[in-house]
Amino acid sequence: MSTVSDYFGSLVFDDRVMRASLSAEVYASLRKTIDEGKELDIGVANAVAEAMKNWAVANGATHFTHWFQPLTGITAEKHDSFIARSPDGSVIMEFSGKELIKGEPDASSFPSGGLRATFEARGYTAWDPTSYAFIKGKTLCIPTAFCSYGGHALDKKTPLLRSMEALNRQALRILRLFGNDSAKRVVSSVGPEQEYFLITQEMYDQRPDLRFTGRTLFGAKPPKGQELDDHYFGAIKPGVAAFMEDLNDELWKLGILAKTEHNEVAPAQHELAPIYTTTNVATDHNQLTMEIMQKVASKHGLVCLLHEKPFAGVNGSGKHNNWSIATDGGQNLLSPGDTPYENAQFLLFLCAVIQAVDDYQDLLRIAVATAGNDHRLGANEAPPAVISIFLGDELNAVLEAIENDTPYRGAEKTQMKLGVDVLPKFNRDTTDRNRTSPFAFTGNKFEFRMLGSSNSIACANIMLNSAVAESLRLYADRLEKADDFKSALHDMIKKTIQEHRRIIFNGNGYDDAWIAEATEKRGLLNYRTTADCMPHLLDEKNVKMLTSLGVFTVDELKSRRDIMLENYCKSVTIEANTMINMVHKRIAPAITRFTADLAEQASRKKALVPELTCGYETDLIHKLSGLTDCISEKTAELEKAVMGLQDAEDVIAESILIRDTVLPAMSELRIPCDRAELLTAKSYWPFPTYGDILFSVK
Ligand code: ADP
Ligand code: MG
Repeated sequence: MSTVSDYFGSLVFDDRVMRASLSAEVYASLRKTIDEGKELDIGVANAVAEAMKNWAVANGATHFTHWFQPLTGITAEKHDSFIARSPDGSVIMEFSGKELIKGEPDASSFPSGGLRATFEARGYTAWDPTSYAFIKGKTLCIPTAFCSYGGHALDKKTPLLRSMEALNRQALRILRLFGNDSAKRVVSSVGPEQEYFLITQEMYDQRPDLRFTGRTLFGAKPPKGQELDDHYFGAIKPGVAAFMEDLNDELWKLGILAKTEHNEVAPAQHELAPIYTTTNVATDHNQLTMEIMQKVASKHGLVCLLHEKPFAGVNGSGKHNNWSIATDGGQNLLSPGDTPYENAQFLLFLCAVIQAVDDYQDLLRIAVATAGNDHRLGANEAPPAVISIFLGDELNAVLEAIENDTPYRGAEKTQMKLGVDVLPKFNRDTTDRNRTSPFAFTGNKFEFRMLGSSNSIACANIMLNSAVAESLRLYADRLEKADDFKSALHDMIKKTIQEHRRIIFNGNGYDDAWIAEATEKRGLLNYRTTADCMPHLLDEKNVKMLTSLGVFTVDELKSRRDIMLENYCKSVTIEANTMINMVHKRIAPAITRFTADLAEQASRKKALVPELTCGYETDLIHKLSGLTDCISEKTAELEKAVMGLQDAEDVIAESILIRDTVLPAMSELRIPCDRAELLTAKSYWPFPTYGDILFSVK
């Protein structure tokens, strides 16, 4: 039997394979490109392409594709065969450096938000050598960035790479100020924890709402939900265990370090966490993980739901973005060090994050905004739409001491002097960790918890990297000019804490009192929906920061705002139309049939025994008829709201209509339908119930 180490990464053209299959010279040159961003010459590209093709063909591949992440949120690929005609009429397998470096998919159907005129429909894809090529099925997949001919980014990878570069540049400036001349690069890393639901294919197939929208649009609360908390970390059912085992195998072959898996809070909900890696690679891996989860589920007769809120009244699914920054030498810049000097540096990076999150709360909210995720953020579920940072008692006490020039930890310690005092070892125990905070310091990394389970992690990390790069830029500008580095550093850290203290909150983030305090007393932002936050992408301060760091152009930002709002409007409109359809075609007829049968039975009973009152039937008929009338009225209102969208002048106006008319009408319609479900005999109800679905996997 083969062990994991035998097949781990077997489908990846990784460092081991490169070293073994490339000449020393080509390997060294490629490594320079990967590690230091040096440009690749075509001779090297040809040699790499040849080795890559031979390796891929030996592993069963017949095709190759440039694999990229357009703004649809999923990945795209267009397969080309390696096959070429040789002069003697036979076929050979060919793949050139040019094909490796650049591709030209016909990309006219991908959203561009007006960045690409139709006459220049084709964009191009460009190889990202920092993410390894891999084999999926019979296809060699080459991770690429996707741009228009005008050079505008049409994908998520391009700005992500730019944001990593911006962070690298600014962080290196800071490290130099601390006398670090050896670090060549600073890289951000991420470990995304992925939540998901597993249900049976059989249940899924019977629910048009799940099939068309990824979530249930109707469904009464089951008698047993998550009240007992008996699912969380509970024993994993055999059907789920078999799925997880298979999933791990597939991910491991692709070099994805899936590590932990467990049940989540809600029934049928689970989580997978990989070991963290470079943000760029983590993003590619997370996209692949989501895709493979769905494929493996299908093999097991299951469906993996990645929607943020598949079931009303049941915990939704998110993604925790564990983020840190480190040097190429492996020094984690968010880890408190052993010497006072390292600690001053740590505190400066910590301040950079605090300031970034405070200054760009809106961008972080925008980065996770989708119709699906709005059901979690800002609803009665965690984390809230208000962003705050949890630091923990110990670190908080340190910052307070600096802020107020008071002794740290009582009288026995003298004043906390940066660069002089040794910081205490922070408690990295996870048990007392605040789980309600949207942005929590967890010992040597920050955990951003607002991402939706189906989000690409690219967006959140683009904003996080950029915002932190901006803080560091401000600090470096000031410190490079300072006559006395130490006192300038101390003053700056102190000032930053004073100015940004409002974003730090160590209490319960779910509490209504907190939301009131945050918005009324502290002036923090609370954008409850995508329609509320998305237009702020183009606020002057945001445009200034993102363009000056070279992460986006103004045109790219405009196009992204429009595409995100279009996605929001489209997904909700599809949901509304699905609801209308389900009511007319299935729900209303089912209730009518049941009511008619009740009446028929009652009258038959009465015919037989005239003195019977048939109170049960009569009462039920009354209630159900009332509900049917209500359903009819609410459906008409929803139809009207959907029609009203046609009057919207632009996508911003449309998104407001979605928020203010369509979504409320959908909630209104759902209420009588769910009541009717509870009153209708099971054999008449056209869909499986929440109870059926949530407990379907054995
Ligand atoms: P938990 O207690 O929530 O399971 P862990 O520390 O085990 O927390 O990590 C959760 C995720 O964070 C994993 O994906 C892990 O690889 C990742 N992680 C751990 N350390 C770092 C780090 N320094 N930078 C980024 N991610 C990290
Ligand atoms: Mg977590």
